[in-house]
Amino acid sequence: MAVLADVMFIGVLGISDDAAGRSGGAEVAGLAKATFLGPEPEESGVGFIARAPATGVRVPSATRDFAGGMDGRVELAMVRSAMRLTLLLLLLVLGGCVGFHPMTTSRPAGGRSELDSTEGAADGVRLRWQSVGTTTQGRPLRMTRLGRGPRRVLWVGGIHGNEREGRVATAELPRALAAVPGALEAVTLTILEDCNPDGTAQNTRGNARGVDLNRNYPARNFQSSRLFGLRPLDQPEARALHDLILDERPHLVIVAHSWHDDHFINFDGPAEHLARRFSARSGYRVKPSDSFAATPGSLGSWVGRELGVPILTLEYPRGRQPWAAWHETREAILDVVLSG
Ligand SMILES: [Zn+2]
Repeated sequence: MAVLADVMFIGVLGISDDAAGRSGGAEVAGLAKATFLGPEPEESGVGFIARAPATGVRVPSATRDFAGGMDGRVELAMVRSAMRLTLLLLLLVLGGCVGFHPMTTSRPAGGRSELDSTEGAADGVRLRWQSVGTTTQGRPLRMTRLGRGPRRVLWVGGIHGNEREGRVATAELPRALAAVPGALEAVTLTILEDCNPDGTAQNTRGNARGVDLNRNYPARNFQSSRLFGLRPLDQPEARALHDLILDERPHLVIVAHSWHDDHFINFDGPAEHLARRFSARSGYRVKPSDSFAATPGSLGSWVGRELGVPILTLEYPRGRQPWAAWHETREAILDVVLSG
């Protein structure tokens, strides 16, 4: 980082000198001359160039100085070599700056961090991302909010790290919702981009400790184990989503997953009517939780059965191309988001 800052300083020097009316070539020559005429000739070119303005070294802009304006101590070939080096550094700096986006810029009260807010800016939808927690490996748990309506919906883009078929749906949902007339006045949509970014990074169901986060919630059917967590909410990712739900008090929670050799819409709590609406729009079959697998300590168990909040667990077909997954469920998702 310190190196980058030094190099950026050089680039800025070159640009500002150009703005002062000098030719770029002459100024580069001037910087090169400073390198060789300065009091510490053994210094690296980079370090000395950065300090050149403080020494007051300035070079006339005429190109004739390349050959004869250096008291014969610097050869023309050396000047050209320095020019190439400086121009290369400038190009590297400009290239590097484009991709440099610091993630965390501040930490306001409440334990949430403001994140870079430029992502997701498309079609007039500008998203401000916050961190609602940090994973075991230090990744932020990114959350954003859209709309200002009385109906509060929480979308969770993933909780099992090897089930990322819903990632395009997560990215595209804000724009799709904003395109529905009146939607942003009817709904407040909160998106947790990924509850398990460590698992996503290593393509594992569990988090970095190997714990299934969808078994770590304080439901009555919680089962203590190394795979599910020794205690409810002993994993930071599960705790962050738990706290987010208590803060938001959503009217509906939707969570994206995927399933081997099948796809369906699962529900817990008072959500059967929403599951049926979803099914009618998508063709995904409705499956209540107790019909296919035991899910002790699942998010659905806690949210649906303990809190009494409708929750839909969307099981995409495992391996489905994420854009295809989005397109085949887009209308169904918008329908249940907007259905009060
Ligand atoms: Zn899953």
